[in-house]
Amino acid sequence: MEEKTTAPHTPCIFCRIVKGEIPSTIIYEDNTLICFLDIAPANTGHSLIVTKKHFETVTDLPDDTLQHLAVFAKKLAKAMSFALAAEGFNVLMNNRKVAGQLVPHAHIHVIPRYARDGIDLNWRPRKALPALLRDCADKIKRFL
Ligand code: AMP
Ligand code: ZN
Repeated sequence: MEEKTTAPHTPCIFCRIVKGEIPSTIIYEDNTLICFLDIAPANTGHSLIVTKKHFETVTDLPDDTLQHLAVFAKKLAKAMSFALAAEGFNVLMNNRKVAGQLVPHAHIHVIPRYARDGIDLNWRPRKALPALLRDCADKIKRFL
């Protein structure tokens, strides 16, 4: 039987960027991650922190890899405040198509933000009954 690997069968655009097969504007790289500018940014400086190995979502990442990515996201956000005079940041990750993940290779977005930049990442809040919140919390807690 064929060995199961994390590599996808179809060419993955981020794996191709990691291999240098397609160009990208690289900000930083090490053995674990590569960070480059998003080709269709929400704001100038919108960056993607991408694992060098192919993983699909946050739940597939080894803990030490996730830690490394998160610590780098913090460093990058600080750099953006100096370099781009960012007043705030969004650090976010889409996981699976239903959550807006277009490229199925784990990555964190770091988006520099400014007052009145017109970016809307907000959802419409729903009303939640206290009993429903408690029930939901109980369900999740059982799996932690
Ligand atoms: P997501 O929806 O979280 O999967 O985000 C994928 C992101 O990758 C989008 O913001 C795209 O603009 C970006 N993207 C896709 N192809 C490239 C590329 N070749 N170079 C840089 N960014 C890319
Ligand atoms: Zn990939």
